[in-house]
Amino acid sequence: MQNRRLVAKFGGTSLADAGQFAKVKEIVLADAARKYVVVSAPGKRDSNDTKVTDLLINLAVACRDNENKEAALEAVVERYASIAKDLHLGKEIVKVIKDDLVGRMAKYSDNYGMFEDLLKAAGEDNSAKLVACYLQSIGENAEYIDPKEAGMILSNEFGNAQVLPHSYELLAKLAERDTIMIFPGFFGYSEDGDVVTFSRGGSDVTGGILAAAVNADVYENFTDVDFVYAANPKLIENPFPIPLFTYEEMRELSYAGFSVLHEEALAPVYKKGIPVNIRNTNNPDAPGTFIVPDKTAPK
Ligand code: ASP
Repeated sequence: MQNRRLVAKFGGTSLADAGQFAKVKEIVLADAARKYVVVSAPGKRDSNDTKVTDLLINLAVACRDNENKEAALEAVVERYASIAKDLHLGKEIVKVIKDDLVGRMAKYSDNYGMFEDLLKAAGEDNSAKLVACYLQSIGENAEYIDPKEAGMILSNEFGNAQVLPHSYELLAKLAERDTIMIFPGFFGYSEDGDVVTFSRGGSDVTGGILAAAVNADVYENFTDVDFVYAANPKLIENPFPIPLFTYEEMRELSYAGFSVLHEEALAPVYKKGIPVNIRNTNNPDAPGTFIVPDKTAPK
């Protein structure tokens, strides 16, 4: 029997600042089975803030229009630099991130869709490098995983990629490693070697693909709510929590515009019958909501 395997995906609010990074670290280290960690780009720290992905889109536009590039670059670097500083990580990792961004900007091409994907992907890629650096700084055996080397191969539909079937076999090899693997969400590579992203919110899709590829016991999706609720908790007071859904119910809800998971994230785990557990980074003791093949199946 294989050892228990958990894929844990952390969304943008779970990585918005150093305090959130520390919570992610606690959660990752709390269970030795949590070896596959998928990360989003840093999200909003409060309702007036801007997600790093949106800052990167601003940077892509600044490059295209050749206007305010320095300020747009600084806005992105600053988000990572403040997290690195608060985690006492030293300046080296910030230089790595800045150099990475400058390198991407230098690859400006007339294919704007392709260029924008290259920049958008930097959000998750550098977030993963920063999480890996943080875990290493406290002596953990963690490593950043390069989606190209690992085999996250996608169709070349910029901004709306689909996974290519042979990715699963390639990604399955990650199970041979004994590190805590920090995998950037949201993007992969085309067969021509170009960076391509899923549609917005696509780190959920990365998590689903990885969970299916390594045959995870559970796909844990850490966000900022204790449960999935029957109504939006930001709009309705004390909405009814829903502890269990079937895939089918979840699919119907996402057609109805109920956004919990990216609608393409379920398909890979659906085929393998892997349960999804929506959980709260800010309250990891809450059991969260399970999305399961059917309600009688054991979890
Ligand atoms: N950072 C990307 C976005 O904002 C992907 C994700 O967070 O899942 O859309």
